[in-house]
Amino acid sequence: MDDQQLWHLNTARIKDLLAVLPAGTGLVLTQLLSRYQQAKEALAAIVAKVDAVSECHRCRGQCCLNGKYRINILDALAHTAAETAISADFSQNPVCPYGTVAGCTMEPGLRPADCVMFICDAIDRKLSPQARLILAAGEEELRDCIQKASVLTGEPLGTPLLLWGDKYKPKV
Ligand code: SF4
Repeated sequence: MDDQQLWHLNTARIKDLLAVLPAGTGLVLTQLLSRYQQAKEALAAIVAKVDAVSECHRCRGQCCLNGKYRINILDALAHTAAETAISADFSQNPVCPYGTVAGCTMEPGLRPADCVMFICDAIDRKLSPQARLILAAGEEELRDCIQKASVLTGEPLGTPLLLWGDKYKPKV
């Protein structure tokens, strides 16, 4: 099975997962997804304050190459819940399947957690001690959301979407 087929299979699997959630679980999951999105937006805002756009422009988004495993199950589930479609084109390697040469196609609050948490050296050098503390707290918040949502659904939601299969069962 190729990546595009795996993508379709596992995005459909997310809909199945949402459809069979026990009663009362949906509201808790919605609250977790809201926290997840807010934490991503807060992290992106900190990085934006040190003019990440200029840095990304300078290096032409090297960290966004080969990004096909960055999106985890919870990231994709957040899109499904928000009814936003992700455009994924696995033929444009090494450009990330979820981006274009002009940049990421997703809003910061719906970008993969791995992408939002990644801080390159050039941006890291510009961060104040206070900004680092806020970023560390935001990262902790994202990991907590993934862990709680995984327990709630019984699935390892931090797993890359393309690796979500019966043979791949990492610890959550
Ligand atoms: S999902 Fe977006 S931010 Fe993440 S690697 Fe791909 S283009 Fe970059």
